[in-house]
Amino acid sequence: MEKAYWNKAEETLERSALRKLQLKRLRQTIDWALRTPFYKARLRKSGISSSRDIKHLDDLKAIPFTTKDDLRECYPYGLLSVGLKDVVRVHTSSGTTGTPTVIYHTKEDIFRWTDLVARCIVATGAGKKDIFQNMMSYGMFTGGLGLHYGAERVGMTVIPIGSGNTRRQIQLMHDFKTTIAHITPSYMLHLYSKLAEAGFAVSDLSLKKAYLGAEPYSENTRKKIEELFGVDAYNSYGLSEMNGPGVSFECVYKRGMHVWEDAYIIEVIDPRTLEETPAEQEGEIVFTTLTRSATPLLRYRTRDLAFIYEGGCKCGRTHRKISRITGRTDDMLIINGVNVYPSQVEEVIMRIPQVGTNYQIYLEKEGSLDKLVVKVEIYSKMFKGDLRELDALQERMREDLCASIIINPEIELHEPGSLPVFEGKAKRVVDTRQKL
Ligand code: ADP
Ligand code: ZN
Repeated sequence: MEKAYWNKAEETLERSALRKLQLKRLRQTIDWALRTPFYKARLRKSGISSSRDIKHLDDLKAIPFTTKDDLRECYPYGLLSVGLKDVVRVHTSSGTTGTPTVIYHTKEDIFRWTDLVARCIVATGAGKKDIFQNMMSYGMFTGGLGLHYGAERVGMTVIPIGSGNTRRQIQLMHDFKTTIAHITPSYMLHLYSKLAEAGFAVSDLSLKKAYLGAEPYSENTRKKIEELFGVDAYNSYGLSEMNGPGVSFECVYKRGMHVWEDAYIIEVIDPRTLEETPAEQEGEIVFTTLTRSATPLLRYRTRDLAFIYEGGCKCGRTHRKISRITGRTDDMLIINGVNVYPSQVEEVIMRIPQVGTNYQIYLEKEGSLDKLVVKVEIYSKMFKGDLRELDALQERMREDLCASIIINPEIELHEPGSLPVFEGKAKRVVDTRQKL
């Protein structure tokens, strides 16, 4: 039997002790932050010139939020709080939405981050006997190296293949009897569609678990992946500004992702009013780092939307859980005046059994109106089937989507393998409206 906890004392710390520890670490973080040009100026404005000015955890709320733009303005050294000689690693965000943000780590920072990732892995019931195939890209992106270090710390056998080269991925999964895949959900679905071509069936593999993250996906996509591969899929959430993976992960009960609250203070705010949302209500996640000395971040607005589950967890961990990320505030599409998140579309189409492993949301102008086209790959058996059946399927999708998003979309059915494939984060939305 594998260990139930990576570090039981830390993971099951009583809430009052956890809050005490947070306060101690917040003070330490304020001292680190005051060494950076950016926070020195900003904290002074809020009347904070030393950690002694922080008496309670609530004092954090007097500090302004830090945004992605702040980080960009600080590029490259404005948020560095130690001498460069003490920095052992630099990471950046993927830069999906502009200039990448840069985060520095000392040796101790990497050690602590690795420990958090190790906790996540053990929380899924995995351990030394597992063969871990890391299909997230290595490099500046934190997904690859982050899990790699954690997996080694736990003692798993790591296959550091990175992303891409689907045939080789499948071959190695088979040859090394991989038990855990770390991968984006979109690439996992793609992998499934390539199995037969590579000469394998799911039954030839030894896969037991999949760690899915780096991009938003729906509960129905998780279910689909679990059914197709016969695995247990776990949601993994993180962002480079908070180190990367290891911020938040599901335990075996899979009802929300535990956030390691001895390393991060979490807040949920209404992105319009910036006020804290009532308990269990969705809003933008805001994090404060507590254990990263080289780049402390105070009240960082992630733009990711989720809510906190109140109450404990059957696993005994006391660190609270967040829901699945439903989208990013900057992902929201406004279609003829109606707000739509791509995840709403995914949730609907992925529960339809004939739907294959890829889809795309396409927006264009038709006169003065917006037109939403949802392009969906369906299984080839279906595609070669009766025309009436295809019409019925198209109509069902249109109705289901219309009921959920209040927009009447056009549905295009596509053959398997015809829509663009992404080996890292998928780009599901193609919006051509601005160009007109
Ligand atoms: P970028 O912001 O450039 O994509 P990162 O590589 O740091 O930079 O990616 C972090 C972002 O990826 C998160 O802020 C979130 O939007 C998304 N993300 C990561 N994991 C998940 C997940 N499990 N579910 C939904 N979104 C996720
Ligand atoms: Zn739990």
